[in-house]
Amino acid sequence: MLEILQKLVGTEHVWAEEPMKDHTTFRVGGPARYLAEPKDTKELAAVIGACTKAGMPFTVMGNGSNLLVSDAGYNGVIIRLFKNMSHIWISGHFMILEAGALLIRAASMACREGLAGLEFASGIPGTVGGALVMNAGAYGGEMKDIVCCVKVLSKDGALREYTKEEMDFGYRRSRIAEEGSIVLEAELRLCPGTTEEIRARMEELKEQRVRKQPLEYASAGSTFKRPEGYFAGKLIEDAGLRGFRIGDAQVSEKHCGFVINRGNATASEIAELIRQVQERVYAAFGIRLQTEVKFLGFGGEPL
Ligand SMILES: Cc1cc2nc3c(=O)[nH]c(=O)nc-3n(C[C@H](O)[C@H](O)[C@H](O)COP(=O)(O)OP(=O)(O)OC[C@H]3O[C@@H](n4cnc5c(N)ncnc54)[C@H](O)[C@@H]3O)c2cc1C
Repeated sequence: MLEILQKLVGTEHVWAEEPMKDHTTFRVGGPARYLAEPKDTKELAAVIGACTKAGMPFTVMGNGSNLLVSDAGYNGVIIRLFKNMSHIWISGHFMILEAGALLIRAASMACREGLAGLEFASGIPGTVGGALVMNAGAYGGEMKDIVCCVKVLSKDGALREYTKEEMDFGYRRSRIAEEGSIVLEAELRLCPGTTEEIRARMEELKEQRVRKQPLEYASAGSTFKRPEGYFAGKLIEDAGLRGFRIGDAQVSEKHCGFVINRGNATASEIAELIRQVQERVYAAFGIRLQTEVKFLGFGGEPL
């Protein structure tokens, strides 16, 4: 399989037994049997074709900023859509981005060009692909507010283009996750603004993040979705779990909605901490917290 992948994407874009702790913001995770980084849709489709033919499981990732990979790793091919597929074009008020482009880079480009609308995303450390799958959002903005259309490779191998309406966005969800298609490219509609005003708004949001979030530790951002009518962090705090710790996995003392890795946490410790938080919040308030973080390589149901 290694040779096949090397032929398809080039030897310098494939790794065997690659530790996923080096590719996730949680800084945990065992080896991916193979990690491959295609540079275009043709290579991506070829890798998927090769996996299917060989009966090899495969999955897609971006920057690994919403991902908990198990200590055992992933016994298949992880296809990483990242730097090799990260072009950004600007045409008038429109921005076209390949799936691997980082939101942070897109936001600063938009700022330089005097295009407003992406400020909310300027502190989200994910790719456009990862952000569209879960309709990433912050400080009152969401991807759905600025998306015009999205190009995907569907499960049956067809290239499709979805309008914003067809994306069926909801709170931290879109049709992409449900149907298992892969985001290739997106077109965003921004609006004219001044670089100074846009920069000021981005700075303001950055200050809020630094003040409220435990950015000094490895994490995957907010661990749980917001249950309707509540805040996950507040429920966790009220359940007496501020600072609750298993090994080096901890409910952040600064922001209870974040599970952090204090340095040497394992994926099992993080997963167990998440499970216990869910259990104790349910016991205290009858509310089931659902994870925003995606699990890979654990087997069975997502937590
Ligand atoms: C410090 C910090 C702060 C954060 N703040 C926020 C925030 O304010 N708001 C917010 O919404 N999130 C936030 N996050 C979480 C995370 O950055 C977002 O969820 C981001 O959109 C994930 O993108 P990614 O490229 O890292 O995806 P990954 O973590 O690599 O993948 C996440 C999921 O998306 C799927 N996926 C990735 N790329 C594609 C693709 N091209 N096609 C199909 N599926 C794909 C993967 O299979 C996986 O299921 C934060 C994370 C951190 C570490």
